[in-house]
Amino acid sequence: MSLTLSAPTAAATGLREGAFGNAVNLVCRECGTTRDLGPFYACAECFGPLEIGYEFGNVTREQIEAGPANIWRYKALLPVPDDIAESPNLEPGFTRLLDAKNLAAELGLKKLWVKDDSTNPTNSFKDRVVAIALSAATEFGSKVFACPSTGNLANAVAAAGARAGIRTVVFIPSNLETPKQVNSAIYTENLIAVDGNYDDVNKLASEIAGEEDGWAFVNVNVRPFYAEGSKTLGYEIAEQLGWRLPDQIVIPVASGSQLTKVHKAFGELVKLGLVEDKPYRVFGAQAEGCSPVSVAHKAGVDAIRPVKPNTIAKSLAIGNPADGIYVLDIARETNGAVEDVTDEEIRDAIVLLARTEGIFTETAGGTTVGVLKKLVETGQLDPELETVVINTGHGLKTLDAVTDRVGARTTIAPTYDAFVAAGIA
Ligand SMILES: *Cc1c(COP(=O)(O)O)cnc(C)c1O
Ligand SMILES: [Zn+2]
Repeated sequence: MSLTLSAPTAAATGLREGAFGNAVNLVCRECGTTRDLGPFYACAECFGPLEIGYEFGNVTREQIEAGPANIWRYKALLPVPDDIAESPNLEPGFTRLLDAKNLAAELGLKKLWVKDDSTNPTNSFKDRVVAIALSAATEFGSKVFACPSTGNLANAVAAAGARAGIRTVVFIPSNLETPKQVNSAIYTENLIAVDGNYDDVNKLASEIAGEEDGWAFVNVNVRPFYAEGSKTLGYEIAEQLGWRLPDQIVIPVASGSQLTKVHKAFGELVKLGLVEDKPYRVFGAQAEGCSPVSVAHKAGVDAIRPVKPNTIAKSLAIGNPADGIYVLDIARETNGAVEDVTDEEIRDAIVLLARTEGIFTETAGGTTVGVLKKLVETGQLDPELETVVINTGHGLKTLDAVTDRVGARTTIAPTYDAFVAAGIA
């Protein structure tokens, strides 16, 4: 019934020998059917999503530790060629894992780490996924590097494309925050604002990808490659913890790809013997104004009902999340949960993280930290267990979210008397 294709040869596919490293094929996540590596994203048998299959061989900690301080130290675990580090790219990854003692104390947690991905080249975790997609697009000989985006992805695609010297076209919902628009337009002359929400933009991108030759839409037709980039977050967390897995992890959910792949990464590390196997709990974070996965989790149902997003967490505003059902599975399997918070709670959490740890996060990070707080308060997360929370983006991109919360305490004359009178000391 299911058709199994043999592994590709460079000659058969026109691809460079070793173009995808240890990756050997594309595997359907629904029915397991495999096919040759290529710019494909849907199963020919059942239309299920495809993901990358590997034959890793022997990968050691020493080999990884000898690599560069960016995602390419994990190249043996990614669908990239061996010489990937020499290609023109933004070298994302290996971001800080901060021991968040103050926030932990504030929330009543014994041990909390913040994985701070706001320090990536374009200030969000999206630089990771885009780097892998760019490598794939290059190997496929694509002439346009494109994406539908809620903002951060467009920034990352436009910047990486500029550095690689490939034409970029990025599509965004027209109501996006000005800083996110400028952060794309500075790198590309092809920022296209679409009258509609992200799900409309995504549908348009799929249509263009089907009609136009040579367009690599990072999160559409090269999505299996793109998605693998999120695994590096999981690898880094484990390596930075001293080659072990955390007990609990809180991850934001837009399409659900990141959460799914961090879980995949932990599983691979166990399988390769790079970390010890142990139970860990995965928690997903959404904004109440776009919480289709959280709603399904709480209702205990398997189907995710698409919603029309209405939240300040625009980078998470995907009403019809492609990997939502896999997020549900993982949360249930690992004894985790998917939770959501209101826009007010998101704003509070942005300020909380800034005031406790000196980290300015965007609304997505406010969502994740807000959900962490709620999970503790509702007893869903065990305060005794070691927890990691991922900050995926930078607050300078969503300044508007907090401009009515913070600002100058007072304005005074430039005199010592005025300082004393203001009661600041
Ligand atoms: C894209 C994005 C996410 C989550 O993305 P997934 O689609 O779930 O992989 C989280 N945070 C930020 C800041 C993002 O831009
Ligand atoms: Zn299938």
